[in-house]
Amino acid sequence: IRVSDTILETEGLTKEFRGFVAVSDVTLKIRRGSIHGLIGPNGAGKTTCFNLLTKFLPPTRGSIRYDGRDITGMKPAEVARLGLVRSFQISAVFPHLSVLENVRVALQRQRGGSFDFWRSDSLLRQYDDRAMALLDDVGLTGYSALTAGELPYGRKRALEIATTLALDPTMLLLDEPTAGMAHEDVDRIVALVKRVSAGRTVLLVEHNLKVVSGLCDTITVLARGSVLAEGDYNSVARNPDVIAAYLGT
Ligand code: ADP
Repeated sequence: IRVSDTILETEGLTKEFRGFVAVSDVTLKIRRGSIHGLIGPNGAGKTTCFNLLTKFLPPTRGSIRYDGRDITGMKPAEVARLGLVRSFQISAVFPHLSVLENVRVALQRQRGGSFDFWRSDSLLRQYDDRAMALLDDVGLTGYSALTAGELPYGRKRALEIATTLALDPTMLLLDEPTAGMAHEDVDRIVALVKRVSAGRTVLLVEHNLKVVSGLCDTITVLARGSVLAEGDYNSVARNPDVIAAYLGT
């Protein structure tokens, strides 16, 4: 069997909100194993695109294929089962549970949702070993006993990524993982995204050009809902249309 080089592709993807075209005829091809950046100034349609790809919004027109399947009509949970998983915003982290418990719940959810681990010590240990390994991956080992609500902001975003990894994604979609962060936190999350991209495909939706510079193999620039440019960082960052679009906001 020949595995296609393209893991996710859209054709003519369009979203209108009562006549306003937020995403217009977007055709994307995302290479398997790559870190692909989707960037653009405010209002470009990034979040709408992200919600279309993860099936949180139905498109007005166009299609989405993931791993050889047409997923245009599927529900978020169905595409998540196929390995296409989005990060959730911090609101999806349970603030009163510990950091470890948050990952444990995410692992349990992946197994189908019955909270069987409360009944068996050995099962609980298995979940916790896996949860600690995930926390280690995202640099939260020393934070496992804190409640999620006590975590500093940057660490919360790392926890959010850990709960996403608990779903064992083949392809990960991250929505502005560095939004609102201080410099040192941004660097840490960039390193984290690089680390968790090993063996996976990542689509990173990001406003900040600097964040994608050292990270993404290919960058698609959206502006006013349409694809303005595509290529590696150097080519898009030098593109006069891209510079003008960013300066215009
Ligand atoms: P970005 O994430 O790039 O900042 P968005 O996808 O959030 O852009 O928004 C693109 C455009 O679509 C904006 O002009 C926004 O106001 C509009 N938009 C987004 N969601 C809705 C909605 N639910 N109803 C109406 N307009 C929307």
